[in-house]
Amino acid sequence: MEFMHPDAIEADRDAVTGLPSLESARRRLAEWLARGARVHALLIGFRRFDTVNLAYGEAAGDAALGEVAARLRHFAADELDSAWIATRGRGGQFLLLSSEECSRERWQLACAQLLDALAGAIPTAAGTLRLSPRGALLRAVPDEDADSILDRLGHTMESAMASPGRRMAWADGEAISAGRSAAQLEADLLRALDAGEIEVVYQPQFSCLDDRLSGAEALARWNHPKLGRIGAGALFAIAERADHVPQLSRHIARLAMDGAKAWPMDLRLSLNITPNDLAADNFAEEFSMLSVQCGFPAWRLTLEVTEQVLLGDVGHASRALGALSARGIRIALDDFGAGFCNFRYLKLLPLHYLKLDRSMIEGVIGDARDLAVLRGIVAMATALDLKVIAEGVESEGQRALAASEGCAFYQGFLRAQPMSGADFLSLARG
Ligand code: C2E
Ligand code: CA
Ligand code: CA
Repeated sequence: MEFMHPDAIEADRDAVTGLPSLESARRRLAEWLARGARVHALLIGFRRFDTVNLAYGEAAGDAALGEVAARLRHFAADELDSAWIATRGRGGQFLLLSSEECSRERWQLACAQLLDALAGAIPTAAGTLRLSPRGALLRAVPDEDADSILDRLGHTMESAMASPGRRMAWADGEAISAGRSAAQLEADLLRALDAGEIEVVYQPQFSCLDDRLSGAEALARWNHPKLGRIGAGALFAIAERADHVPQLSRHIARLAMDGAKAWPMDLRLSLNITPNDLAADNFAEEFSMLSVQCGFPAWRLTLEVTEQVLLGDVGHASRALGALSARGIRIALDDFGAGFCNFRYLKLLPLHYLKLDRSMIEGVIGDARDLAVLRGIVAMATALDLKVIAEGVESEGQRALAASEGCAFYQGFLRAQPMSGADFLSLARG
């Protein structure tokens, strides 16, 4: 993927959010248009953002903008397969540009999900605040130039702001269609499992010591016949609404293990499990049975759980994980550093790996405090006999630092994107 990471254009970024400047985004947009890329755009504005500054103070306002930028970036990285650019527009506005080949309906769905994510509570030192985002959506027409795209978005945003009931508006004036209703998507999902629309892709993991391939994490995708490819985040959100998470998880685990059976024996497979999965009474037994049925050896499996499991019944979670680890399955604590980072709980769960969230890796180059936090976490993990996996490694500098700070493994776009089972197999055999 080619996308605009702030590190790439150090001198040209916005001080509050770390995003590339509007000017550099406009240049990149012009390059895309010149080579005939299909451009989709979303301009995001916030109603009454100035009252946030008044009520909470300017520092809180800046912190909120920083959080919006982070959510925007993470959303784009997770949901968009092609190149994208996120930047600050005028005032408190943000702009997302994508070169994704997708349907109008798919872009609208992605924008709606992003606005939902931005509307979620934002904790700041001055208190928790909520923003009410508005979106102007656009599909570039043939031969349209960058100025025209930005103008059309700006005008659409002005009128969207003026009508309180409208959260999104298309720049070409077309009414926001209801899209596929939530109920329809839930029904689609039920069919999707049998129709073979769920795909497992594998993201390679490497040893920090010698850069050798050590295994892969299985990640889910939904190839929806009408909407195109739907990412894991949206897929699980739909499954959760429909109460289909357990079926979906089993389906993915089976597909992933079937695919991994042909791998060389020294490679491990990591599977994500949700707190929901783990909370089921007999999860450990059912999961072990599934691995036996699939004929995939337990000792080559890692289950990734997030700290969210701690919000439920910690005793139950730790017993279930204990039973799995007694059968040789290893457990990784995923996204560490993104949530509350409660060290005290680490010793309650039978863990083998600590997987650092990519936000921890993002800052380590150039921010001494981020580096100090990373050092502290690695030291603590080592003391607890856990191996550390660095996630979201996008640059050589980040990889070198993760290795020299004592991480055991890494995963990230620097070496490999998530890939099809066939591609992973040729990498593994290569
Ligand atoms: P996660 O477990 O933290 O998975 C890593 C996510 O980070 C993946 O996104 C991956 O594509 C992305 N990523 C990997 N390397 C980089 C990098 O260098 N830079 C950036 N910016 N991103 C990177 P994906 O596949 O969209 O998955 C998002 C989340 O959805 C996962 O986060 C996981 O929580 C959940 N998920 C995905 N597949 C499954 C699944 O089969 N079951 C369950 N329960 N959850 C899943
Ligand atoms: Ca994971
Ligand atoms: Ca993770």
